[in-house]
Amino acid sequence: MDFRGKTVIVTGAGKGIGREIVRMLVERGAQVVALTRSAADVEALRGEFGCRAIQVDLADADATREAVIAALPADFLINCAGTTELQPFLETTVEAFDRLVAVNTRAPMIVAQEYARSLIKEGRPGAIVNVSSVASFVGIPDHAAYCASKGGLDGLTRVMAKELAPHGIRANGVHPTVTLTPMAVKAWSDPEKAAGMMKRIPVGRFAEPADIAEVVLFLLSDQAAMVNGISMPVDGGYMIA
Ligand code: NDP
Repeated sequence: MDFRGKTVIVTGAGKGIGREIVRMLVERGAQVVALTRSAADVEALRGEFGCRAIQVDLADADATREAVIAALPADFLINCAGTTELQPFLETTVEAFDRLVAVNTRAPMIVAQEYARSLIKEGRPGAIVNVSSVASFVGIPDHAAYCASKGGLDGLTRVMAKELAPHGIRANGVHPTVTLTPMAVKAWSDPEKAAGMMKRIPVGRFAEPADIAEVVLFLLSDQAAMVNGISMPVDGGYMIA
């Protein structure tokens, strides 16, 4: 996959899957505009990959809109930023629920709106990949707000796929299983819980960030020109187990 001459916006580019996506895109010739939160990551992205990096808290709707407008124009968009907080359903707080929906669901909508508006105005095609999770398909204990936020993101992906395709813009979702990143440390550091999850993955391992990044880049690329509106698990077979 050749991304020479293409500009790609990547949210959540500072760590984990997003950072690996940036590395792969730059390796394949893309110009990346990274949107992420921590100042140290912004500096590291600029230094290591020579990309444009914009610091933003995606939980802030106005700041998110401002950041994406500053990032435009772009050929492609990857909504990768995500966050989680573990709480049993009965103890899920309104505050945590709102925080997760703001970052995992509302921010991808705002970013995609501005990205798509700019392409439509210029009459150019594009593609969006939203990084969801297997948690949008199944109920994972202690992940009520996270599962709900990713389910909401899937709904957005499907509507984008229908409404934007006539403008030449595709939208797809990628659904990783547990992937070895800082987020996985937060969610899966209990060895008993991790072992239970691992048992349900037929390939017998958790994902590496590169496993996810390859699929994201494929769905973004012209090789996937006829793929629109899908929710693709990247889960080693977890969903069929
Ligand atoms: P990480 O926590 O490792 O990295 C997430 C990145 O998103 C960080 O750079 C983080 O910045 C950024 N981010 C989070 N919140 C905000 C915010 N409010 N504003 C701006 N940037 C923000 O996560 P992963 O790489 O593991 O996850 C990437 C995506 O994959 C997420 O959408 C996640 O839900 C999904 N996913 C991950 C799985 C896993 O097991 N790892 C499994 C399934 C799906 P900072 O650190 O500065 O806050």
